[in-house]
Amino acid sequence: MQRITILGATGSIGQSTLDVVGRHPDRFEVFALTAHRQDDKLVEPCLRFRPRHAVVGSPEAAQRLAAALRARGCPTEVLHGEAALEGVASAADVDMVMAAIVGAAGLKPTLAAARAGKKVLLANKEALVLSGAIFMRAVADSGAQLLPIDSEHNAVFQALPQGYAREPSPAGVRRILLTASGGPFRETPLANLEAVTPEQACAHPNWVMGRKISVDSASMMNKGLEVIEAHWLFGVPADMIEVVVHRQSVIHSMVEYADGSVLAQLGNPDMRTPIAHAMAWPERIEAGVRPLDLFEIARLDFERPDFARFPCLRLAFDALREGGAAAAVLNAANEEAVAAFLDHRIGFLDIARVIERCLERSAGLAVDCLEAVVAADACAREWAHAEIRNRTPGR
Ligand code: NAD
Ligand code: MG
Repeated sequence: MQRITILGATGSIGQSTLDVVGRHPDRFEVFALTAHRQDDKLVEPCLRFRPRHAVVGSPEAAQRLAAALRARGCPTEVLHGEAALEGVASAADVDMVMAAIVGAAGLKPTLAAARAGKKVLLANKEALVLSGAIFMRAVADSGAQLLPIDSEHNAVFQALPQGYAREPSPAGVRRILLTASGGPFRETPLANLEAVTPEQACAHPNWVMGRKISVDSASMMNKGLEVIEAHWLFGVPADMIEVVVHRQSVIHSMVEYADGSVLAQLGNPDMRTPIAHAMAWPERIEAGVRPLDLFEIARLDFERPDFARFPCLRLAFDALREGGAAAAVLNAANEEAVAAFLDHRIGFLDIARVIERCLERSAGLAVDCLEAVVAADACAREWAHAEIRNRTPGR
């Protein structure tokens, strides 16, 4: 029996994880569930899975949830705040932690799980983009097991030889090919991109996801963050990572070897596949995912990404090559710009403009410890706020 903490249990990944847990009551037991604001969405999963703890973002939310659970006779202890998040991610009774909080807010609890040597199921790519070197060092020092949930990285993990993560050099890997759907604006006339709405950006053709990652997919910043994520997870430089636009989202990514072999992982676009893979690894379990029907799919298409259409992808490659604080600044500026876009304060194309200005200001800034990462993140958010104010219409 494996005990799991799900950080971000009310989100899209959190809910898919609970679905997989619910299919295997003989294998998995829930230790803790966490949410930020939507404490009401934790009531039903607490009643069903009876975790030892639930963690929410504020004392008011904790009070509401505790009262609702008490009234139904549920013994779950309700906590709140950052220290509690880190506590349930690192508790001695926890075997694995699903890191599915969105954005930099997930960094500290995810790092706590890594430092405590847990099996870390990593969906929160922003944590790795922000603090890749520190995070990977924590994993190596504690002997934690890091399993990627992001579908592309999970695919690459499946296509790499077992044990690759610990011994990258002799495996004969030539390139990592990350596939990308191209999002909802792959073919939108460039002149129309300035005026697209948050609702259009969140209408992804193949995947149902949280709003932040949906906007990232529309700008292809999601793929940019994934390039940086792949760099840290698989120890490969930017030049060994290629992005391939593949609109069907059936091939989730590939690994090319020195002998010319290319290994791909295929499946229907359903996050329960990588989630179940990582939870059961090295075994395989049922995930509730519809089998892939190749006859129905019939064809697979591939294109080169258009960097003029998707400047965010270029900015991410630039940030990875630059090193230092650039990736942390890219991530923080993007989070703020996406929030402003979702709030109708800036236009879609302003997202890349805001990030580019912040990156210009961060040139030469180093990050060698967690405090420096947190400071660079805060600094970039200030710069981004100023850029966003300059661009807000009617200000
Ligand atoms: P979501 O918006 O649906 O859910 C986010 C979760 O994080 C919620 O449970 C929310 O309560 C919690 N949260 C938000 N802000 C918080 C804060 N400040 N403190 C504590 N908790 C907070 O997001 P999602 O789509 O499930 O994505 C989660 C993560 O997984 C992201 O990093 C995303 O990039 C990654 N990811 C998602 C998908 C997908 O298909 N949804 C695929 C690959 C990777
Ligand atoms: Mg992905």
